Amino acid sequence: MICPTCQREIADYSNFCYFCGTRQGSGVPSRRLMRSVVDSKIAGVCGGFADYFNSDSTVVRILFVFLTIATGLVPGIVAYVVAWILMPQAPYVSSPAGVANTAAPGSGQR
Ligand SMILES: [Zn+2]
Repeated sequence: MICPTCQREIADYSNFCYFCGTRQGSGVPSRRLMRSVVDSKIAGVCGGFADYFNSDSTVVRILFVFLTIATGLVPGIVAYVVAWILMPQAPYVSSPAGVANTAAPGSGQR
């Protein structure tokens, strides 16, 4: 990241600039609404919202499904697709719970 005051390169998520001492942001890594990679059923939209609001992704999904049905399906589905398109995918973070490896090497036999 670049210090906004002196325009010098400092380490990401630094609380203070080493050069001019300016306080950087809130000291917390910027929280963005992103699709969850590790916590996803379809596209990780609900998992991302749960992450963002620090809540349980299951609760978010249940609420989302309930709202979708209550509004006659279409608004909910449209909202989901829009969120899918607009929300960036979160960078992959290895979870301590143990996520299955995606790349399975050497299975090219026919
Ligand atoms: Zn600075």
